[in-house]
Amino acid sequence: MDFRDSAEETAFREEVRAFVAENLPSAFRSREPEWGMFNTSRGRTVITPEDNRTWRKRLAARGWIAPAWPKSYGGAGMDIGRQFIFNEEMAEQRAPGAGGIAVGWSGPTIMTHGTEEQKARFLPGILSGEETWCQGFSEPGAGSDLASLQTRAVRDGDDYVVNGQKIWTSGAHVSQYMILLARTDPDAPKHRGISFFVLDMKSPGINIQPLINILGDHSFNQVYFDNVRISRANVIGEENRGWYVGATTLDFERSSIATSVQMGHVVGELVRFARNVEGGANRARQQRGLRAELAERTVEAQVARLLSYQVISMQKRGLIPNKEASVAKLYTSELDQRMMRTGMHLLGLYGQLPDREGPRVPLSGRMPRGYMASTTATIGGGTSEIQRNIIATRGIGLPRG
Ligand SMILES: Cc1cc2nc3c(=O)[nH]c(=O)nc-3n(C[C@H](O)[C@H](O)[C@H](O)COP(=O)(O)OP(=O)(O)OC[C@H]3O[C@@H](n4cnc5c(N)ncnc54)[C@H](O)[C@@H]3O)c2cc1C
Repeated sequence: MDFRDSAEETAFREEVRAFVAENLPSAFRSREPEWGMFNTSRGRTVITPEDNRTWRKRLAARGWIAPAWPKSYGGAGMDIGRQFIFNEEMAEQRAPGAGGIAVGWSGPTIMTHGTEEQKARFLPGILSGEETWCQGFSEPGAGSDLASLQTRAVRDGDDYVVNGQKIWTSGAHVSQYMILLARTDPDAPKHRGISFFVLDMKSPGINIQPLINILGDHSFNQVYFDNVRISRANVIGEENRGWYVGATTLDFERSSIATSVQMGHVVGELVRFARNVEGGANRARQQRGLRAELAERTVEAQVARLLSYQVISMQKRGLIPNKEASVAKLYTSELDQRMMRTGMHLLGLYGQLPDREGPRVPLSGRMPRGYMASTTATIGGGTSEIQRNIIATRGIGLPRG
């Protein structure tokens, strides 16, 4: 397989690189990157809401808020190859994409299943880059087995009345809208009695309770619904078909390339630390095992990148990477955890200090924060066990246990 860019792809890569170089606010550039897939820490260099707004506005002006959306809906209409290059270059330059739930999930679902009125009402706000959406799917008794969800939505005239609870809802406290799965027919088989709603987060009866994560940050929430009314006009697709509506994805690239790129950055910084910082060099010299660990992580970061290339090369040929996307997610999330463990070994006892500053704090405390954050990598976006089930059944055709 030849993974090199074509001439046209090389030109596009240059275009993305130049755009980021010119437009990314300096606060992003000068910050020390926080590590780990779901790391919510703001680190030492504070990026202000204004920096975020500026960057999103510039992406919006360039038409790059939604790289995968068709042009007819205001997206960039990038094919899979260009999406990959875009995501790879953004990750290389540590520039945040504007993706998230709004661009990655809500918009494509509304485009595919929504009415013209729903498209006109919701898509422009997403494309402006100024709206945040959250995903109200998981419940205390429904995570991997999402179809067991119990939150009820009962028809009452032109509205539905919603009661129940969601959990782990990232960003609910800062979101304008939620995409919500709720049970509308409790008597139907579990996948068939669910509907897909857009919920205005200002609706009366919503109670958002923070869940503080392992880093001490408020990123996800429990959300309680007490007789919350949602208009019928906010059901996306047919009533009771929400399970299938929720499974919509556009032709997004699914290669985990941003994480693969980040893994290369982390091991690069660890090796630099071992070489250049006195304590690091001593530890690496004293403990031969550490040198081997760093060598292994370097190779594994390359493997992660090759797995991403494998996924993208399939998608470019019109194939659907099913087990391959699961292999890439499984490998990068578990590598994330191994990488952070290696970092902790390298930094030694002082490396456990998660403080952002201090004479004895190596690497601004980023490694222990990354280490803590990495514990969630194998849960969010589908657990390792679920990925292994997909690989076993859909990938190598093993019987269901
Ligand atoms: C950082 C983060 C952000 C999140 N953000 C959101 C969000 O915004 N919105 C949202 O709706 N949810 C969100 N989630 C929730 C996430 O989708 C769930 O945590 C995930 O689907 C797992 O569900 P669970 O926590 O209920 O665990 P469970 O499904 O209860 O799993 C518990 C354990 O059992 C294992 N297990 C379960 N089923 C099987 C099986 N069939 N075979 C083998 N092993 C199995 C799992 O692998 C796991 O080890 C987030 C989670 C994280 C970590």
